Formats: sequence, structure tokens, C-alpha cells
Amino acid sequence: MLEIKDLSISVENTPIIKNLSLTVRRGEIHAIMGPNGAGKSTLARSIMGYPGYEVNQGSVLLDDKDMTELEPEERATSGLFVSFQYPVEIPGVNNAEFLRMALNAKRNSQGLEELDPLDFDDLLTQKMDALHIDRDFKNRGLNEGFSGGEKKRNEILQMAVLDPKFAILDETDSGLDIDALRIVSSGVNQLANEQNGLILITHYQRLLNHIQPDHVHVLLDGEIVKTGGKELALELEEKGYDWLKQPSHS
Ligand code: ADP
Ligand code: MG
Repeated sequence: MLEIKDLSISVENTPIIKNLSLTVRRGEIHAIMGPNGAGKSTLARSIMGYPGYEVNQGSVLLDDKDMTELEPEERATSGLFVSFQYPVEIPGVNNAEFLRMALNAKRNSQGLEELDPLDFDDLLTQKMDALHIDRDFKNRGLNEGFSGGEKKRNEILQMAVLDPKFAILDETDSGLDIDALRIVSSGVNQLANEQNGLILITHYQRLLNHIQPDHVHVLLDGEIVKTGGKELALELEEKGYDWLKQPSHS
């Protein structure tokens, strides 16, 4: 479903991601783990087409369609969704209205009719209730004054409304207390199904107590150095990342 082929990314002429290949099949959840500075966020941002991330080589295919030359909004309407480690605040942009516009842009590109504010409100209320998100979130500015945990929950709500084919969640667990972590992971579990795919980027193993990945990859210095099952996450929790560092790379 998502095929990353031989991808090399640089930021300000510094190579960060190096010849990375990864295939995620429909219905699978993959976790990418790695220490700070490994290139996890660079990978997520470049897949979404964030400015300043240069693709030097390789491609990212979503259902055989190459994403690398598309504008970010075209990637989004193709069914890609990336939640960011540090969601932006956009004061003055109403959260519900933003979500309605984003969903309608996607529906337009699929040749579907737009949802009017009332129909959209029904959909939004249903998604918010399913995710145990306070209905006040509707009327606030986009992420304006939201706590770290509220921003993460709002990102899961965006994902629920947009119902992407493929989602990449970048450190959705960081900074969450245990209750918020439970809400976010149960949201992710509700949304993951046989028709979509998911990459979870995480620094810590604890998220994987709540969401079961099919495969776990370790990213170190821009390369996948090890792949395993969910037991690999436990091994990393115990041993850290140092044992995977190869002397030839230093
Ligand atoms: P991770 O998410 O795994 O902690 P990042 O992808 O954020 O790692 O960073 C990987 C490397 O790329 C780091 O060395 C970081 O300093 C560098 N980097 C990331 N973004 C930028 C940027 N916008 N400008 C310069 N260097 C960057
Ligand atoms: Mg990061």
C-alpha cells in the first residue's frame, strides 16, 4: 500500500535519510523507533511534502501513485495523513470549520458532494463522542491554547474526520499522561482497519503496550538498522539503542 523505495532526503544540504526502503501492506501497523535525531520526523515530514525537505533520490508510492512530486494538499487528497510532533496553533481559525473545509476539499477531489455545516456537525459530534473529546473543542481556535495532550487528541480527531487511507503519526504519545495516552491509543485502534495502513513513530515502547504493531523498525542515523516483531520494542526498552550502533558508521 505504502512503498518507500530507496529514499534519500536532505535538509539544508545535509543528508538525513539515507537509502531508506520500507513497505507497509494494507491493514498493517508498523512502528518506527529510534533515538532523538535519528531522522524520524524528517521522514514523516518529507513524506507529506513539508517545505525544505529535499528528495535526493527514491520515491514514496501510495497505492502505486508517486507522492514525491505532488503538492502537500494533493498528497492529502490522495489519502495520506501525517500528524506532526509539534502541531501548529492557528488562532482565529475555528477548529470545526477548519475540519469541515479539509474534509470538503477531500470530498471535492473524490467527486463527492460537500457536507453542509449541519451535516458536518453531526459527523463531527459522532467522531468526538467516539474519541471522548470534549465538544468545546469545536468552537476553539485551531489548537489555540491547547495543552500538549489536547493537541494530540485533536490530531486524532482530524484523522478520524478525514479517514485517510494511510496515516503516519509522529510521536503522538510524547508528553501524554497515562489517561491521554489511553484515549489517543484507543482512538488509533478504532481507526485502524483492514483497508488502511499506519506508521507509528515513537521514541518509547509504552505506546506499543496499547497499539499492537505488526512490524517494528529501528531508525538510526537515517537508516533502518533492524526490523522485527513487537518483541523488538521490548528489547529496545530494556537495552536502549546503543547496541545497534555500528562502528563502521561512526
Ligand atoms: P527525530 O525525529 O528522529 O528526533 P529529526 O528528523 O527531527 O529526528 O532530526 C534528524 C536530524 O536532522 C537532526 O540531526 C536534526 O538536527 C536535523 N534536522 C531536522 N530538521 C532540520 C532542519 N529544518 N534544519 C536543519 N537540520 C534539521
Ligand atoms: Mg522527531
